[in-house]
Amino acid sequence: MANDDPPDGGQRSADRPLKLGFIGLGIMGRPMARNLLRAGYPLTVWNRSKPGIDALVAEGAREAASAGAAAGQADVVITMVGDSPDVEQVALGPGGIIETAREGLTYIDMSTISPETTRRVAARLREAGIEMLDAPVSGGEQGAVNGTLSIMAGGDEAVFESCRPVLDVLGEKIVYCGPSGSGQVVKLCNQIAVALNNLGVCEAITLCRKAGVDPERMLEAVSAGAGNSWQLQNLAPKMLAADWRPGFKVAHQAKDLRHALNSAHESGASLPGTVITHLLFGRLTEEGLGGEGTQALLKALERLAGGSPPSGAA
Ligand code: NAP
Repeated sequence: MANDDPPDGGQRSADRPLKLGFIGLGIMGRPMARNLLRAGYPLTVWNRSKPGIDALVAEGAREAASAGAAAGQADVVITMVGDSPDVEQVALGPGGIIETAREGLTYIDMSTISPETTRRVAARLREAGIEMLDAPVSGGEQGAVNGTLSIMAGGDEAVFESCRPVLDVLGEKIVYCGPSGSGQVVKLCNQIAVALNNLGVCEAITLCRKAGVDPERMLEAVSAGAGNSWQLQNLAPKMLAADWRPGFKVAHQAKDLRHALNSAHESGASLPGTVITHLLFGRLTEEGLGGEGTQALLKALERLAGGSPPSGAA
């Protein structure tokens, strides 16, 4: 049942655990919220659709009726939603965090969104007495499940330090990157490295198949040498098994590279590799494959190489 009790007086107290709110219970948010619950934090959750909520309530979380209600119960509220418009809606929209949160609330957005939107939302919330950190993550679904994410944070440093115990539950490597938006900039840098490396893995598999060599042998050899990487270890086996189920969705990677290119445009950076990978992920999304995992980039390469895409699980 939804819980809309009023907040219990406002100020944080040293003799009780922080009350947390968590909004966005998808592939990443659900295991992250679960880890906070298991660490002993009282947790109120909200999600756009019901299944995500039910799973956490069954494990002891309280259900809120809206994003604002989740924030109204909390000392710290976390979002793990999709893109910039989702964060704007949840933070500033009708029934959003700004409507019901009390002064002294800290808001941590862990989604990957545009640095510019982050700075704008943070400024608006600060006028309402709410401090916002951007703290996007890397490490994938497995990192979320294991609490071993890499977390890159932006915002006020003292606020960041006050939230470190919460972030410690979710991540292994937690880096303060600078003022508001800095965490998102670093996350976009991470996504450039991830996407271009993914492209390299796809090109290696494509050449191997075209040249008539067993790609399993190629992976065995390359993974022991300088070509080894997270993408090779985690995505290449899925590519060879034609397993397109998402950990990290094609549409999210297209979105992240779009934000990286917008930031590059604003700052005058030249990112030719990002242009190419953004084009390929964008094409896959337009073809209706946005819900597949980013290992589906191989399909785009297979098409360019003139072969039919490998068949298998959708
Ligand atoms: P996901 O599975 O699509 O989950 C997103 C969740 O947010 C869903 O539960 C969705 O609700 C909810 N949501 C989206 N828009 C909303 C809105 N406007 N209002 C309320 N709830 C909303 O995505 P994910 O893979 O967990 O990724 C979440 C974020 O983390 C993204 O920014 C992504 O780029 C980033 N990220 C993902 C990974 C990864 O490996 N998956 C790794 C690092 C970072 P519904 O259930 O109703 O759809």
